[in-house]
Amino acid sequence: MDIVRSSISTVEGPSAWFTGDVYIDAVAAAPEPSRVSANLVHFMPGARTHWHRHPLSQTVFVTEGVGLCQRRGGPVEVIRPGDRVLFDADEEHWHGAAPDRLMVHLAINESDDAHDVVQWLEPVTNEEYSEAPTAEHD
Ligand code: MN
Repeated sequence: MDIVRSSISTVEGPSAWFTGDVYIDAVAAAPEPSRVSANLVHFMPGARTHWHRHPLSQTVFVTEGVGLCQRRGGPVEVIRPGDRVLFDADEEHWHGAAPDRLMVHLAINESDDAHDVVQWLEPVTNEEYSEAPTAEHD
């Protein structure tokens, strides 16, 4: 057993990977042979990931606020607390907060020697982001 007290600093999501203010707390980071990692991610209003893909897929579970996500070629979807989203392996997508609400989700990822956790792509443009169905927030 290994108890890690609340001593791990929150990391600010780097601008190479995120638009806006994003804060990341490491929830699980077990050594090999475990392949799982988990992060609690706070997206401030308007903040979102860049387009990206996960070679071994990703599950996110929304815990607070109102969020948005989109797979390449699909509509922008509203996600709320209690919603669980599976992004399939190598499916290009993004996720983040609504323009006027923060969003918090737990993100669960896998990786191994042959598969990165994530492969980052280009930023989500304001034009792409503004396609969000804002009327659904209320
Ligand atoms: Mn993702």
